[in-house]
Order: sequence, then C-alpha cells, then structure tokens
Amino acid sequence: MPTYDYLCQDCSKPFEVRASITEYSKGIMPKCPRCGSERSIRTFTSINVMTARRAGGGRPGGCAPTAGPGCCG
Ligand SMILES: [Zn+2]
Repeated sequence: MPTYDYLCQDCSKPFEVRASITEYSKGIMPKCPRCGSERSIRTFTSINVMTARRAGGGRPGGCAPTAGPGCCG
C-alpha cells in the first residue's frame, strides 16, 4: 500500500498517510496526528530526486561539465 506525504497547515507537522489507490482517488482527508486538524496539504518529497536523476543526461555521477573538482570524487 503506497504512502502519501502530507503537511499540516495548522501546526506544520509533516506526516505520512497510508491509503490504497482506490481510497486516494476517492479523496482522503487525513487528520494530523499532532493536532487532529484536517487542513493538510499533499507534499511531494520524492519528485526532486527523480527529476535530478533525469537532468544528469546519462553522465556518470550526474555532474555538470562545469562542476569543479571534488564533485565526482
Ligand atoms: Zn497539526
């Protein structure tokens, strides 16, 4: 079952919610485990990692051509 990252808008606590695809597509209103608020927003923590890999252009280590020494080790 996938997990979804949320951030409470009332107390700014990040938390994870487990829900099936079916449940999520119907729309879930996760409650903040700290303050019980339902005003939470979805966050995407893994998207940056995926795009960064793609931006590497297949270069080993993903370093830019202008990267200084020490970038790739
Ligand atoms: Zn909260």
